[in-house]
Amino acid sequence: MTTQNESPVYPPSAEAISHAHVDAAKYDQMYAASLADPDAFWSEQGQRIDWIKPFTQVRDVNFNFGEVSINWYTDGALNVSANCIDRHLATRGDQTAIIFEPDNPKDPALNITYKQLHSSVCKMSNVLASMGVTKGDRVIIYMPMIPEAAYAMLACARIGAIHSIVFAGFSPDALAARVNGCGAKVIITADHAPRGGRVTPLKSNADAALLHCQDDVKCLVVKHTGDQTTWVDGRDYDYNAMAADAADSYAPAEMNAEDPLFILYTSGSTGQPKGVVHTTGGYLVYAAMTHEITFDYHDGDIFWCTADVGWVTGHSYIVYGPLANGATTLMFEGVPTFPDASRFWQVCEKHKVNQFYTAPTALRALMGQGNEWVEKCDLSSLRILGTVGEPINPEAWTWYNDVIGKGKCPIVDTWWQTETGGHLMTPLPGAHAMKPGSAMKPFFGIQPVVLDPTSGVEIEGNDVDGVLCIKDSWPGQMRTIWGDHERFQKTYFSDYKGYYFTGDGCKRDVDGDYWITGRVDDVINVSGHRMGTAEVESALVAHVAVAEAAVVGYPHDIKGQGIYCYVTLMNNAEPSDELLKELRTWVRTEIGPIASPDVIQWAPGLPKTRSGKIMRRILRKIAENDFGSLGDTSTLADPSVVDDLIANRAGK
Ligand code: ATP
Ligand code: MG
Repeated sequence: MTTQNESPVYPPSAEAISHAHVDAAKYDQMYAASLADPDAFWSEQGQRIDWIKPFTQVRDVNFNFGEVSINWYTDGALNVSANCIDRHLATRGDQTAIIFEPDNPKDPALNITYKQLHSSVCKMSNVLASMGVTKGDRVIIYMPMIPEAAYAMLACARIGAIHSIVFAGFSPDALAARVNGCGAKVIITADHAPRGGRVTPLKSNADAALLHCQDDVKCLVVKHTGDQTTWVDGRDYDYNAMAADAADSYAPAEMNAEDPLFILYTSGSTGQPKGVVHTTGGYLVYAAMTHEITFDYHDGDIFWCTADVGWVTGHSYIVYGPLANGATTLMFEGVPTFPDASRFWQVCEKHKVNQFYTAPTALRALMGQGNEWVEKCDLSSLRILGTVGEPINPEAWTWYNDVIGKGKCPIVDTWWQTETGGHLMTPLPGAHAMKPGSAMKPFFGIQPVVLDPTSGVEIEGNDVDGVLCIKDSWPGQMRTIWGDHERFQKTYFSDYKGYYFTGDGCKRDVDGDYWITGRVDDVINVSGHRMGTAEVESALVAHVAVAEAAVVGYPHDIKGQGIYCYVTLMNNAEPSDELLKELRTWVRTEIGPIASPDVIQWAPGLPKTRSGKIMRRILRKIAENDFGSLGDTSTLADPSVVDDLIANRAGK
């Protein structure tokens, strides 16, 4: 059993309760209904979206290893682009669909109405169709965070082509691997991508990638900065010239609910990225529903998710969920610290953002810069805050709550995965209390179970921990790994038969609330005590001198596993032996002697994926003194930090 300290509990405020779509009683009633009669529940939820042909079957699911098959709304037909655009035109054609905030705050922001979105997406659809893209074809999107990235996604959906977005920070090699992996016909890119004042030459990267692809892959280039790029006639297509002449209507294709909508590679924190396949009907229902309920979205709200469209968070909560709901969604091209550390808060003030959704890594970075960057901005429009991507340490949670939310904004700590399409666990603003660092409660239809890692038996009751699995399907669940259904079954359905295995460890506390303890691999066993590395990290980060920490286990003769900590200090703190001792004592007092760090290594930087997640598997190898087999590091944001960590590895 873990030794989680008593956690403070923040009950929902009267204001949050009265505002919310779902209060505690409604949650209980709906959750019970979602388990008692899933067909009826999801049939009703299916009415959130418009169907060209209504479904008559709701679910057809088999979780048995060897025969895994997941289908929702199987005989229904619809088009995602029509759901995100056309159906809103009559009622909200002149409402802003997308607010675009550029990298440089001196450049003008754009307000794109639903009518304008319709016209741009139709033009993009006609351009792609003229290049030979048809239903079922794969299209790679390698774009900056500009409106054309959303147009490209929606145009693919309109035609029935399957998009796969590759984050613009990825190298030509990573891009080529994904183009080849899904057999894409076209890459959509832009000339250059400015971000945080620096510029990535996207088109040159695409040129380099295309050298390793089939000769017939075409490249559609959006003009963004307008700076010079090389050009290969016959292969490269000028989007702006073609769009100028293209018609501004395009009939949405009739798609089966189970036709693939997109392929997205996972961020690769634990190994080789997987080409996750999401389909049309169930994904959209689930993205729309979670967007509305988790963030308590109401008509007229301004919603801002700071993720990149290259990650699933950007798919579900910048584009598909919000637009299916007729929302106003903000797309930000920049980074939190450019031109300075107040940028996020300035954007919130400028566009009067109501819901703000970001990652713990961004919060920790901003917290380290001091509160003055926040205090000079008017954040009174904020109503709901959200976090996603990693466990949020209570220290960062409290800062988010006090300094950003002024104690008035519910924080939704949303636990989910690329594989799940949308949130699986989160407190709901008007229904649940919050505990800093806890994902609290399952969303409707989600049945989390805690399994004994060795026997695979369900652990009943509260105050228990183990491996987190999900008992039954939900509409947003991934259907397969592109081209490799075997790997799909093996990865998610073979270790614990009959369940979807999340790969995460979890704890159900005395009140029955859920805490993600990190990846299963990140749960360590010290002298017979199991603990999540996240817990030790939280304790370290709670010390004033510590900006960030990553903790891994390593083989230890006496304890079985020892605790190895990589610690990044605040700008104003210096490494010293005294501080090292102080941190040890600190963790002992915060958690208990069992969690006392065996090794602390000062780390000026930590190896992170492009989406900002710490790659603990690399840190594990370094701690184990096993530098030869670091595995796939192609998804690292800055590979040079690994060399530094190896060079300065602490002696044991
Ligand atoms: P890969 O599967 O390739 O190793 P990845 O798991 O990092 O990459 P994602 O799908 O982007 O790829 O991340 C999902 C994971 O992120 C979850 O399994 C969980 O470990 C972590 N996570 C996401 N949200 C939360 C949260 N709110 N609290 C705790 N952990 C979270
Ligand atoms: Mg994963």
